[in-house]
Amino acid sequence: MNKTILILGAGTGGIITAKELSKKVGKDRGLNPVKIILFEKEEKNVFAPSLLWLMVGKRKPKQVYRSTNKLSRAGIEVVIGEIEKVNPENISITVKGKEYKGDYMVISLGVEQITEHNLNNYGNDFYTLDGATKFSEQLKNFKGGKIAVLVSALPFKCPAAPYEAAMLVESFIRKKGIANKTEISLYVPEPGPMGVAGKELSGAVRQMVEMKGVKYFPEYQITSATERTLTFNNDKTAEYDLMAFTPKHQCPSVIRETALVEKPGWIKVNRNTMETQFPNVYAIGDITFIPLEMGKPLPKAGVFAHYQAETVAHNIAQKIYGKNDFKTFNGEGQCFLEMGNGKAGYAGGNFYGSPLPIVKMKKPGYFWHLTKVWFEKYWFFKYF
Ligand SMILES: Cc1cc2nc3c(=O)[nH]c(=O)nc-3n(C[C@H](O)[C@H](O)[C@H](O)COP(=O)(O)OP(=O)(O)OC[C@H]3O[C@@H](n4cnc5c(N)ncnc54)[C@H](O)[C@@H]3O)c2cc1C
Repeated sequence: MNKTILILGAGTGGIITAKELSKKVGKDRGLNPVKIILFEKEEKNVFAPSLLWLMVGKRKPKQVYRSTNKLSRAGIEVVIGEIEKVNPENISITVKGKEYKGDYMVISLGVEQITEHNLNNYGNDFYTLDGATKFSEQLKNFKGGKIAVLVSALPFKCPAAPYEAAMLVESFIRKKGIANKTEISLYVPEPGPMGVAGKELSGAVRQMVEMKGVKYFPEYQITSATERTLTFNNDKTAEYDLMAFTPKHQCPSVIRETALVEKPGWIKVNRNTMETQFPNVYAIGDITFIPLEMGKPLPKAGVFAHYQAETVAHNIAQKIYGKNDFKTFNGEGQCFLEMGNGKAGYAGGNFYGSPLPIVKMKKPGYFWHLTKVWFEKYWFFKYF
C-alpha cells in the first residue's frame, strides 16, 4: 500500500479530507503504510462562521479557534509552515525548504485575503479573528452614529455573511438601546443578496435585512476611502463612524504561479470528482472555480468544501484499495442565515440544478439558530 497523501490547507476542506482518509485508509483502520500529511501555515485554527458572533460580542476570541496541532491525532501528521511551492506535475510541495512528495494531493488552500483602499486603517476586516475582535470592542463602546458594513470586492466567501453581519449588528444596537440614534448601511457590489440561489430567495433576504431598518445599497463598488467616508464607482459617497468590511479575495499566490490556475484566476476542476487536469491531484473548496449553467460560479462556502472533501477522500480510498466504487459531488448545499435575536433562516438545495439552481428557504426561527450553534459545538468536538 505504502502511499502518501498530501493535504494542502487545514481549513474546512483539508480537515474533513484528512479525517475521512484517516477513517478509510489511515491509522484508524490499522493501515499505517498510508501516510496522511496535512499542511497548514496558521497555528490558530479559526471556525469562520463563529466570527459573526465574535464581532457582536456573542463569543470571546478564544472560543472561536483551536490549536492546529490538535489535528495531528488520529494518524494524521500535521506540518505547520507556509507552503512555498506546489508542483502538481510530480505531486510535490515545499515547506520551509523541505520537499514532500506524494501519490495523491488535495489542495484546499481557500482564498488569500487582501485589504485594498487602506480599509484596515479605517475599519475592521470581520473575516479575520483580529478584525472581528477589534470590531466587537468598538461596537461595545459605540454611542450612536453611522455604521457601515461593506463588501469591498467580488467574489467573497459565504454569500450570506455580510447580510448576517448587518442583522446581528442591528440586533446588538437595538438591545443596547441606541437604535434611534444609529443608522446601519450595507454596501455591496453585487446586484442583490445570494443571487445564485435565485430571485425569490434573494428578494426574501433583502426584505429581511430592510425590515430590520438596515439601509441596503446594492451595486456599490468601493473605489476609495478616508477616515470618515467611502466613495463608490457610481460617484456616490457615504459617511460612517464605525466600519466592518470584507477583504478582496484572490487565489493564494503559491497556486497562482502554477498551471493549475485558469481564467478567471482559480483552479479548474472536474465539477463531479474535483480532480484537476493533473491525475491524482484534486482541488476543493474556495480555491476552485466551478461555472454553473446559469452563468455564475458555484459560491464559495464551507458546506461545499465539506461535501467535496468527503467525495475526494472516498475516491482516493477507492483508488488505494484498487476498487472503483466512486462517488460524485452533486452540487448539494445548505446555509444558515443569522438574523439576530436568537433567530436564523435556512436555505438549501441543488446548485447544479439545470437550467437554474433549485434552492428553497425554510421559515426563519429559533430552531435554525440553535442548529447553527449546535454545529459549531459539533465541529470543535468532532475535529479537535
Ligand atoms: C465570517 C464568515 C462566516 C462564514 N460562515 C459560513 C457558513 O455559515 N457556512 C458556510 O458554508 N461557509 C461559511 N463561511 C465560508 C467558509 O468558512 C469557507 O467557504 C470555507 O472555510 C472554505 O474552506 P476551504 O477548505 O476551501 O478554505 P479554508 O477553510 O479557508 O482553509 C484554507 C486553509 O489553507 C491555509 N493556507 C493558505 N495558504 C497556505 C500556504 N501557502 N501554506 C500553508 N497553509 C496555507 C489557510 O491558513 C487556511 O487554514 C464563512 C466565512 C466567513 C469568513
